[in-house]
Amino acid sequence: MSEHQQPIERLQTLIDCLQKTLDDEADCIEFDLEMDCLAEWLASGADPTLVVKPRIQAHLAHSRDCAEELEVLIAILRAEQNGLLDDIL
Ligand SMILES: [Zn+2]
Repeated sequence: MSEHQQPIERLQTLIDCLQKTLDDEADCIEFDLEMDCLAEWLASGADPTLVVKPRIQAHLAHSRDCAEELEVLIAILRAEQNGLLDDIL
């Protein structure tokens, strides 16, 4: 999810990302479509080499912003699973 980013910043992120995109690499849009699902898998302890497609892995290696977004999402899901958010929300 990227609602925390301003539209302009998000657009710039997408542009930066597309410029660096390789032929066998997912772009930001493709990554965004998979991110929620991927985060659920990874937060549940799934093996990243099994659930993360090579195209997505390539994208994460080149796009620090997207890799961080995924990490944050996984951290939130893990906290949720552990009931750590109950006290906060
Ligand atoms: Zn990206």
